[in-house]
Amino acid sequence: MRVDALLRAGVTRSFEFFPPKTDEESATLETALEDLVPLAPSFVSVTYRGGEASRQRTFDLVTRVQREGRLTAVAHVVLAGHRRRELAEVLERYRDAGIENIMALGGDHVPGEGPTELTYALELVDLARTVGPFSIGVAAHPAGHPRSPDRASDRLHLAEKLARADFTITQFFFRPDEWSGLVADLADRGVTKPVLPGIMPVTSLRSIPRMAEMGAAVPSELVTRLHAANERGGPSAVRAEGIAAATELCAALLDRGAPGLHFYTLNRSSATREIHAALFGP
Ligand code: FAD
Repeated sequence: MRVDALLRAGVTRSFEFFPPKTDEESATLETALEDLVPLAPSFVSVTYRGGEASRQRTFDLVTRVQREGRLTAVAHVVLAGHRRRELAEVLERYRDAGIENIMALGGDHVPGEGPTELTYALELVDLARTVGPFSIGVAAHPAGHPRSPDRASDRLHLAEKLARADFTITQFFFRPDEWSGLVADLADRGVTKPVLPGIMPVTSLRSIPRMAEMGAAVPSELVTRLHAANERGGPSAVRAEGIAAATELCAALLDRGAPGLHFYTLNRSSATREIHAALFGP
């Protein structure tokens, strides 16, 4: 199924995984898939790191998931570290393997990768359109991309990119207004394509600084809530509070008309399952 068609048909629920690098990571992923497939997600997406081995791991997982016929798969493709010709070959392989959905992404430079020929994800969207009839998603950053000089210019570039793609998935965030503000800013620029909110619960105090480094700082009211939970009941209470906060965020987003929910699973199933059960039942 194409993701744009799924989005037209109703509210989607989707999960993101990364391709495993070791036997241990493979085992973790298998457990997560076994736990999450019964929730019948609308689609799953598979991330991509630079380099040939990593590219192959993403390809293998995407095509396996699709071949097994249980899930619709979305392949992430990243322009950093690739020549235009290599990107066209990656896209041709997906097309020939029957993969209908891709995320067209800028990526971040990883040392040791080859030269990068395209500059912005928008150019990868245009390249993918020449290769096959893909349903194409792009990345959005509610707080503005960390490399952007300001939020307004990032919104402008996002609007331009999304106008040529089919849907966008956001970086994770914590306040429903961040999603509503992004959707309103895009509408002001004439773009009304689906904006899927990315959800990642805070499950430990340790992850708070890491999330800020990833460009999505945990807001002070949530930090206060998590610290209060820690004083009450330690790490397990922090985890429960983080999952409750993410569930509240999801409910508010659905109330406001979000076209779906996209969960960053980190190849673990329990937090996603708990939020999913609270929203949609067991
Ligand atoms: P772009 O759209 O190219 O934007 C990058 C920057 O350039 C922004 O600041 C933007 O405002 C600016 N810009 C865009 N167009 C122009 C223009 N015409 N002129 C001037 N400035 C411009 N990374 C991975 O490595 N692998 C993954 O699998 C992956 N998956 C992701 C999934 C999601 C849902 C999200 C939100 C991010 C993901 N990322 C992934 C991270 C992403 O690759 C990085 O955030 C990267 O730094 C930017 O990617 P982009 O697609 O937003 O790039």
